[in-house]
Amino acid sequence: MSAPAERTPRLHYDDPLRLEGEAEVRAIASLRGAPSVILDRTIFYPESGGQMGDHGAIGEARVVDVQLDDAGRVHHLVEGPAPEVGARVGVRVDGARRRAHMALHTGQHALSRALLDHLGAVTRSSRLGASACTIDVDVDGLDLAALAPVEDAVNALIDEDRPVVQRFVDDDAELARLSLRKPPPETDRVRVVEIEGYDVTPCGGTHVTHTAQIELLFLQSVERYKGGSRITFECGPRARRALRLSHDRLVEAASGLRCAPAEVDAVVAGLRAKLDAAREESGALRARLADAWLRAMPAEGPVVASIEGADPAALKALAARLAVGDRWVVLGAPEGDATHVLVARGPDAALDCGGLLKRLAAATGGRGGGRPDHAQGRLPGLVDLEALVGAHA
Ligand SMILES: [Zn+2]
Repeated sequence: MSAPAERTPRLHYDDPLRLEGEAEVRAIASLRGAPSVILDRTIFYPESGGQMGDHGAIGEARVVDVQLDDAGRVHHLVEGPAPEVGARVGVRVDGARRRAHMALHTGQHALSRALLDHLGAVTRSSRLGASACTIDVDVDGLDLAALAPVEDAVNALIDEDRPVVQRFVDDDAELARLSLRKPPPETDRVRVVEIEGYDVTPCGGTHVTHTAQIELLFLQSVERYKGGSRITFECGPRARRALRLSHDRLVEAASGLRCAPAEVDAVVAGLRAKLDAAREESGALRARLADAWLRAMPAEGPVVASIEGADPAALKALAARLAVGDRWVVLGAPEGDATHVLVARGPDAALDCGGLLKRLAAATGGRGGGRPDHAQGRLPGLVDLEALVGAHA
C-alpha cells in the first residue's frame, strides 16, 4: 500500500500577490487522464468555489489548469516537458489572469453585500467564468435601473481603497462575533475575507489586498432566473475590455447610421417608425395586387396560371382564395432562373396535388411534392404551365 497522499500547502492564502518562486517536485501524477505535477507547496490557485484555476509555468512546462483532488493535493495540469521528480524548479503564475480573478472575486463579495444592503437580495450562487461572470439572487424583477444604486455603492467602495484582509479563523467564538454574510463551511479552520468596514464572508478564493485593485464594477445585464434574478457583471481588466468593446460597437453602429454615437437611439427609433409605415403600405399594396390577380382569374373550374411578380407567399394567399369547393389550382411564379409552382385543391376536388406535382417535376427535371391537397415545388426555367399541366393532369 502506498503512503496516504499529503495535502499540498497553499501559499496563495497568505500571499495572493506572490506570483513567482521555487518548489520541489514531489510526484508526477495524473488527473482525469491528463498528466499533472504535484509540488511540495504551491503558489497556484486550484479551481474551486466558482473561481477558475491559475495558469502559468513550472520549469519548462506550461500550467494550463490547476485542480484539487479529494485528498487536498493540488494537481498542476501541464503541457510540454514535465520536470523530474525531486527537482527544484522555478514556478510562475500568469499574473494578469490571477489579478483579473482577484478583482472579480472581491468585486463579487462587494456586489453581494451591496445587493443585500440596498435591495435585501440574498446571493444564491455566483460563477466567475472565462467569458461571463454571474451572480444569482433571490429577488425577482430586477432591471439595470433598479441596480444603479448598487453599482454606485460598490464603485464608491472601490474609490475609498479600503483594505481587504484574508485570514483563517479557528475559534468558534470569534467566528460568531464576525457576523458573516453567509454561514461558514463545516471545517476546523474557516477562511474569512473582510472588506474593512463593509463585508465579512467565508471564502477560499483569491482576493485583492485593497479595494482600488478591483478598479471598477460594471453591471452588464440582468435577467429572470429560477424565480429570482441573474446579474452579469465584470470587474478589473475585464470590465475595461468589456466597456471598450461595447463602445467600439456603438461607434460602428453610429457610423453605419451616419450619426453621432449619442444620436443612435433616436435615429433607430425614427428608422423603426419608418419601417413600420413601409410595412403597412407594402401590405396594403400586396392586398390590392392580389385582388387584381384574383379578378383576372376565371370564376369557375380549375385554374392554371403563371403570375409575374408573385412570390411564394402571394401564391399561397391566392390559392387559399381560389381552391374552394371542387376547384383545384396550379399557380406558378418566376423565381430567379426557375418557376415556383403551387398545387392546391378545395375539399370536394378529386385531384392528387402531390402526384400531379411529381409528374410535372419528372417531366421538366425539377423537384417538388406534397400532400394530396397541397403541394409545392420548383421547376427549372420559365415553363409554359398551361401546356405542361394539360399534358399531365
Ligand atoms: Zn471570495
